[in-house]
Amino acid sequence: MGHSTKPTHKKCPVKRVIMAEEATSGTNRGKTVEQCQEMIQRSFRIPMVKFLREHLYKSGCYVGNNFIKAVNCEKEVAGGYVPGKGIIVCSNHVNIQDEVNQVVIHELIHAYDDCRATNLDWTNCAHHACSEIRAGHLSGDCHYKRELLRGFMKLRGQEQECVRRRVLESLKGNPNCSEAAAKDAMDAVWDVCYNDTKPFDRAP
Ligand SMILES: [Zn+2]
Repeated sequence: MGHSTKPTHKKCPVKRVIMAEEATSGTNRGKTVEQCQEMIQRSFRIPMVKFLREHLYKSGCYVGNNFIKAVNCEKEVAGGYVPGKGIIVCSNHVNIQDEVNQVVIHELIHAYDDCRATNLDWTNCAHHACSEIRAGHLSGDCHYKRELLRGFMKLRGQEQECVRRRVLESLKGNPNCSEAAAKDAMDAVWDVCYNDTKPFDRAP
């Protein structure tokens, strides 16, 4: 029996996982696809977006203007990253520029993780959790001002608590992670991933 130890690069029938983020202002009407597309273009002027695109490029992944698309989403999500394809922003679930900026920044961190790691498996709960921890922490999603707008008033320890809550929320969208598996995976990788601030020197 001559079986090779080398991994085969066949197209694997993995379930498509889309890293999606909870929408924050579900009650508002949202924007049209055209308006949202303009907001995406505006987000490209933000230093943090420029910085992430630059580092994606340096890591060998080019993020062109078409990489990020506005679409209408059925699910209550603000946006998502589709591995190997690009980023979507849900026009019908965003209302202000800051929300679009946050989605773009958050998803660019997923794209960066995808780009720098050759063996990242989004179907693996721990891998997915790690990227959500980083994206939640580094994007400023959990800045206290944004949390106050969401109606969360607690200030002490709020940042980590907010990241945890949103990581679990995102992992719900992964068909491979049960609620218990998601929590275990998050706890197991928390310290390493929360402290991994690349490509930033420290959490912005
Ligand atoms: Zn995410």
